Amino acid sequence: MGFGEAKDYGLLFRILKLRSERLLRPESVQGVMEHALQHRERVGVQDFVLLEDYRSEAAFIDNLRKRFHENIIYTYIGNVLISVNPYKNLPIYTEEKTQLYYKKAFFEAPPHVFAIADNAYRSLVYEHREQCILISGESGSGKTEASKKVLEYIAARTNHLRNVEKVKDKLLQSNPLLEAFGNAKTHRNDNSSRFGKYMDIQFNYEGSPEGGHILNYLLEKSRVISQMSGERNFHIFYQLIAGGDEELMKHLRLQNRPEVYKYTTDLVTPASQKVNDAEQFRTVRAAMKVIEIGDDEQKEIFEIVASILHLGNIKFVQNDKGYAEILSHDTNSSNVGELLKVSSSKLREALTSRTIEARGDVVTTPLDMEQAQYARDALAKAVYDKHFSWLVSRLNSSLAPKQKDARDSVIGILDIYGFEIFPKNSFEQFCINFCNEKLQQLFIQLTLKSEQEEYLREGIEWVPVEYFNNIIICDLIEERHRGIISILDDECLRPGDANDLSFLEKLSQRLDGHAHFKSHQKVDTKTQKIMGRDEFCLVHYAGEVTYNVNTFIEKNNDLLFRDLQSLMASSGNHIVGTCFKDVNLASKKRPETAITQFKNSLNELIKILSSKEPSYIRCIKPNDFKAPMTFDDKLVSHQVKYLGLMENLRVRRAGFAYRRTYEAFLERYKCLSPNTWPNFRGPAREGVQHLVQSLNYEKEEYRMGNTKIFIRFPKTLFDTEDAYQL
Ligand code: ATP
Ligand code: MG
Repeated sequence: MGFGEAKDYGLLFRILKLRSERLLRPESVQGVMEHALQHRERVGVQDFVLLEDYRSEAAFIDNLRKRFHENIIYTYIGNVLISVNPYKNLPIYTEEKTQLYYKKAFFEAPPHVFAIADNAYRSLVYEHREQCILISGESGSGKTEASKKVLEYIAARTNHLRNVEKVKDKLLQSNPLLEAFGNAKTHRNDNSSRFGKYMDIQFNYEGSPEGGHILNYLLEKSRVISQMSGERNFHIFYQLIAGGDEELMKHLRLQNRPEVYKYTTDLVTPASQKVNDAEQFRTVRAAMKVIEIGDDEQKEIFEIVASILHLGNIKFVQNDKGYAEILSHDTNSSNVGELLKVSSSKLREALTSRTIEARGDVVTTPLDMEQAQYARDALAKAVYDKHFSWLVSRLNSSLAPKQKDARDSVIGILDIYGFEIFPKNSFEQFCINFCNEKLQQLFIQLTLKSEQEEYLREGIEWVPVEYFNNIIICDLIEERHRGIISILDDECLRPGDANDLSFLEKLSQRLDGHAHFKSHQKVDTKTQKIMGRDEFCLVHYAGEVTYNVNTFIEKNNDLLFRDLQSLMASSGNHIVGTCFKDVNLASKKRPETAITQFKNSLNELIKILSSKEPSYIRCIKPNDFKAPMTFDDKLVSHQVKYLGLMENLRVRRAGFAYRRTYEAFLERYKCLSPNTWPNFRGPAREGVQHLVQSLNYEKEEYRMGNTKIFIRFPKTLFDTEDAYQL
C-alpha cells in the first residue's frame, strides 16, 4: 500500500517526521500505516465531514454504530455534536478528561460534550459573544444528562472562590429539585423531563458564574391525574410518600403507600424503588436547603403535593336529581381544605356547582358526576402546574446574581422535547412539533444565513446551498388570522356549538391545497393512507404526522371553573394564594388560550436565542430497551431523519468547514514553516500565505478572506494540527 492510496495525510506527516528523525525504517512504514488504517476502520471517523460517502445514510449510521460499539459515543458534524446514549457509565467525565478540554479547539481532542462547553465558554469570556447550547433529541436520548455535563464542566473550569462555589452549588442543585417536580418514569425514560427548560448561566466580567435564570415550557400536567399503565406520576409524589418522616406524614395526613392514592395507583412500586424514592427525597430536601427554601416554605410545598393526592381521592355521589355531591364527612375534601387553608365546605360546593354571571344575574348550576370529576381533576392539574411555575420563579429569585454586573453575559442551555411521532398524536404532540419547527427555523437562520453573511463580509465567493426552508410550515401553523393556531383559537372563542370536529372542518376548508396540510377528506394518492374522520396530517420538515383532533378544544381552552379559581386565590397557603391571585377574576377578558401562550413564550425564546451564538448537541437513542451495547439501525435511522442530520452534513460539506482569523491561525501554526518561525514580521495575512504554501494546501482546500482563512475540509485542518502536534 502506498501513501497515495491511503490518502491519510495526517499519518503521512507523522511518519515523515519519524523517518526524518530516523526512528522508523522505510520497511516499517507500511506496518504503521496498516495498523493506523485498521484502527480507523474500527472506530470510524470523528467528524462526519470526513466520510468519503457523505451523502449515504447507511455510511452515516455505519460510522455511528462502529464508534458506539467501541464506547465512543460522540461524533461531530463540523461543530454540531452528535451523542449516542450509552446507557452505561463510561469513564469519560473524569477530572482528567475535564482537564483535557481546557482551552482546546474541536480538532485538538476527541469529540466530547466538554469541548462544546469549553468552546462556548471561551467565546463568551474572551470574544464576548453570548452563547447558547441547543440540545435536542427524542425522549431518553440523553438531553438532560448532556445539559448536566455542560453545567458540571463549567463549574469545574471556572474559579473556585467561596462565593462563586456557592453560586455553582445552587446552579447544580437546581437540577435535582426541578427533576423531582418535573420528571417522571415513562416507558421511554425512567427519568423523563416532562417540561421544556431553558437555563441561562450568568457570568461576571471575570468569567465566573454569578447566577442563573430558568424558563420553563409546557409542563405535561395531564400526568398529575392519570398515567399510561406502567408509567408514573411526577417523582415528588412517590418521594414524599416514601421519604417523609413520621411527623411530616402525620401533618400531611398521608399514608406511606402510593397505591392508596388514585393519582399514584397506576404502577405498583417495588420495594427497591421505594428505597430509591426515599433517598431521592433526602436529596430534594438538601437541594431545597442549598436553594435557600426555608422550613416553612418547604412545609407549604409538601402541603400542596399532599393536597393533590387527597384531592384525587375525593369521591362524588349522585343525588336523586342526578347531580354530584360530596358527603360532608368526606375526609379527603377536609384534608385538602385543611392543608390548603381554605374552607372545606366551600371546596365541596365549588367542586359540585358552577356560578355563571349572565347579564348581571348570578346563577349557580349544579354539576353532574362527569362535570364534577372534570372540575376536580382540572383543579389538581392547575394547582400542580402553577405550583411548578412558582417553584421555577422561586429558584430564579435564589439564583439571581447578588450584584448585577453591567458587563455580565450568559450561556444559555436549552433542553427541550424533540420531534414526536406516535401512533396517535394529540394536542401535546402538535405543540411539541410546532416548537421543533421553530427551532429548525432558527437553526436555518442562525447557521445558513450567518454563514452566507460571513462569506459576503469576508469577500469570499459563495455558492448558495440548496436546503429546505421550513418557514412555510411555521407560517402554516402560526400565521395571524390564517394559521392553524388562529383557526383553533377562533373555534375556542366562538360561542355556541364549537367542538373538535367543527375545528377540523374549518381547517379542511381553509387550508385545502396547502402543500404541507392533508385533510382527512382526501385519501393520500401516494401512500394510499386513509385518515380517520377526526384526523388531519401535517407534513413537517422531519416527516408526516397525523394528528387526532379529539380534545384539542378542551386542552386549548384549559378552563378552570371560576369558583375554584377564586377559592384558591383565598388560600392561606401563601404559594397557592400567590399562584391564583395573578388571575384577574374581575376581568371579563378571556385568558389567552394554551396554544397562544405557548406560541408567545416560544417566540420570546426564539428572540433570546437569535441574539446568541449557537452550539448544537443532537442526541440519539440507540434502542428502545434502555440497554447498553445495543444499536438498533432502524431506530437510529429514524432519528437521523428527524434531526435533519444528513441535510446538516450536506450543507456543512458544501461550505467551508473551518475558519480562523489570520492572527490566531498564524500564532498556532507558525512553527510549521521556516518563513514564519520563530516570528513573522508583517501582516498576519501574509504570514498565513507563507504557511499554506509550506503546508502544500491545494487551491480548492482554502480561501483567503478579508480577516480570516477559510478551510474547506476539516481534514486539511486535522492534518495541519497533526503536523503541529508532532
Ligand atoms: P426526556 O426527553 O425523556 O427527558 P432525555 O433526552 O432528557 O429524555 P436523559 O434523561 O438525559 O434523556 O437520559 C436518559 C437516561 O439515559 C439517563 O437517565 C441515563 O441513565 C442514560 N444516559 C443518558 N446519557 C448518558 C451518558 N452520557 N452516560 C451514561 N448514561 C446516560
Ligand atoms: Mg430530559
